[in-house]
Amino acid sequence: MKFAPICHEVASSDALVGIECDNCGQRVVVEARDLGVAKGDYRPLEEALRCRVCGTLGRSTAVLFDELFEAQNYAAR
Ligand SMILES: [Zn+2]
Repeated sequence: MKFAPICHEVASSDALVGIECDNCGQRVVVEARDLGVAKGDYRPLEEALRCRVCGTLGRSTAVLFDELFEAQNYAAR
């Protein structure tokens, strides 16, 4: 599990990514390729994400999972 991934490494990954919105607390697990971030983008992933629930941009906490069980635990909290 890796905290504070950057866009570039997520764009190159098939991993699952967990995102928790700091504004509304919504927690989701998505596939890295569904985030639409680009290789060569070296911003922190959090800066590029908009919450799908409340629409807040750039205020979330993201983690990159190495193992499926980590993502399952994260989603279940
Ligand atoms: Zn939100």
